Amino acid sequence: MVQKAEKIWFDGELVNWDDAQVHVLTHTLHYGAGVFEGIRAYATVDGKSAVFRLREHVVRLFDSAKILGLTIPFTVEEIHDAILETLKVNGLKEGYIRPLVFIGDGAMGVHPGSNPIRVCIATWPWGAYLGEEALEKGIRVKTSSFNRHHVNVMMTKSKACGNYVNSILAKVEAVKDGYDEALMLDTSGFVSEATGENIFIVKDNIIKTTPLTSVLPGITRASLMKVARDLGYEVVEQLFTRDELYIADEAFFCGTAAEVTPICEVDNRVIGEGKRGPVGTLLQKEYFNAVKGGNDKYKGWLDYYEI
Ligand code: PMP
Repeated sequence: MVQKAEKIWFDGELVNWDDAQVHVLTHTLHYGAGVFEGIRAYATVDGKSAVFRLREHVVRLFDSAKILGLTIPFTVEEIHDAILETLKVNGLKEGYIRPLVFIGDGAMGVHPGSNPIRVCIATWPWGAYLGEEALEKGIRVKTSSFNRHHVNVMMTKSKACGNYVNSILAKVEAVKDGYDEALMLDTSGFVSEATGENIFIVKDNIIKTTPLTSVLPGITRASLMKVARDLGYEVVEQLFTRDELYIADEAFFCGTAAEVTPICEVDNRVIGEGKRGPVGTLLQKEYFNAVKGGNDKYKGWLDYYEI
């Protein structure tokens, strides 16, 4: 259950959590043409708070909307500031931020006509997405029977609501089968991404992640690539197969919600030593250090705010 905060920012106003309501004929509720973001704020090492890569997330929200042909009736600056305002009014020193852009009610055909484009921003406290233990011990993963979207079916550079039907199908199947997360292959059979995370593998100290062909361009993925290169690692973006994953020395998922989560098993095959490996451990540590303002090199990624 989501822990309620006091206010939700809704179409330019801060309203009480329980008053942030929509009509049942909301177009996006029926057809899925909406876009959203998942952003985290962290309590920083100097006792303040900061949102991690806020501008990049807001820009991706606008890019997602553009891909779907939705015009957000606010500027990047207004949404950026509204996010910080919502965190402050809710007194959240750290937590999760969920902006959502959706088509309101009016026309009910597939063509949304001139229905209003509505925007809300909710914030709430949220711990480790896959559990604290997962960050340390790693998770068990199953290749899904569902493929990730073909690029000409659903465009994966948009974080579109409807894209997540595919994620839900895969996640529910994996959990029902006793696994923690689903790995999805693209329609050619190459490794794509998980239901809400990008993937990295490590072999002979070379770090590999999938190219941006069928995946969401993850902001955590980009951050880890930068951190890894700064540490002197070779990082390549290249398609790889599930058997290459099986024989990797290490593998891990990454995302705003999942942060850096080691993968200890895929399709009942142990990955490496079956635990968080040395590269994954280092990148996880550096990532948490960066998001909490512990590394001056990455301070530019933080938007500080005061409660
Ligand atoms: N892929 C999918 C399908 C996702 O939902 C997410 C989470 N937004 C990611 C990758 C990771 O993206 P990010 O690091 O920007 O959170």
